[in-house]
Amino acid sequence: MTSAVSQIELNSSVSIPQLGFGVFLVDPADTQRVVEDALAVGYRHLDTATGYNNEAEVGAAIRASGVPREDIFLTTKLRNDHHKARDVEGAFSRSLDALELDYLDLYLIHWPMPANGFYVETWRAFETFLADGRAKSIGVSNFLVPHLEKLLAETDIVPVVNQVELHPIFQQRKLREFHAKHGIRTEAWGPLGQGKYDLFGMPTIQAAAKAHDVQPAQVVLRWHLQTGTIVIPKSNSRERMAQNLDVFGFELNLDEMAVIDALDENRRMGGNPAENN
Ligand code: NAD
Repeated sequence: MTSAVSQIELNSSVSIPQLGFGVFLVDPADTQRVVEDALAVGYRHLDTATGYNNEAEVGAAIRASGVPREDIFLTTKLRNDHHKARDVEGAFSRSLDALELDYLDLYLIHWPMPANGFYVETWRAFETFLADGRAKSIGVSNFLVPHLEKLLAETDIVPVVNQVELHPIFQQRKLREFHAKHGIRTEAWGPLGQGKYDLFGMPTIQAAAKAHDVQPAQVVLRWHLQTGTIVIPKSNSRERMAQNLDVFGFELNLDEMAVIDALDENRRMGGNPAENN
């Protein structure tokens, strides 16, 4: 039987399940079925974005699942073309309408878009959603240290998370240190490397999988969890969803953690947030 998913307390005092389910590139036509499956196998943390074009289907799945709203931690993200203060309220309301929900557990700025230079005013609008209770927590995604420094210097609320590309080939050590110093939790997108690296074929990961009688993907997720990172792996297959959730019944030892730590090549697979996305 799957052991319970660990919870992490955010700087908003809200708890987030450390392992959730992401729906990037899940076709809107498949999303309701996929999210209903995820809820049925036991996920209680869902990660979508306005840019994924599947918020409505995520909301429909939540309602169809019968799982009480308050048992689900739901994140969505502001699109990059709505950063100006005057656009943020409308974008936020449209997300709530599409989801048919009256609050979000977490609302994120999807990308800093530094060349546009609006993210500080975007964040001030986010602070109003926190104040009126329509967002229980607010955070950012794909922010680099200079973006976080500017936000911390010019606004009042510290983001609860920074959701960034993070996997064994790109481990983001400096950014994680900055987060730890400022009470920001690290959340990994692409935690399995989006299947773009042969992570699961690597001898070190295969050896750990064999030692614990689990699958290589479970080893990679376990490594994230033991480093304190929040993870949101995605799969359209119910079998893999269940496998990815079943990572709380074993623990990697220090040597197994160290060999995965040593895989870091500081190499991104996605866009560089220093530039507009
Ligand atoms: P991921 O690392 O979770 O990889 C997903 C792919 O891994 C799947 O398509 C599947 O091919 C494979 N996979 C999943 N489980 C497996 C298993 N048990 N065995 C073998 N293969 C398996 O990549 P992702 O979907 O890009 O990232 C996860 C989530 O992060 C997204 O769904 C989305 O919610 C979020 N995300 C956010 C951003 C951002 O800019 N904030 C960017 C990308 C993704």
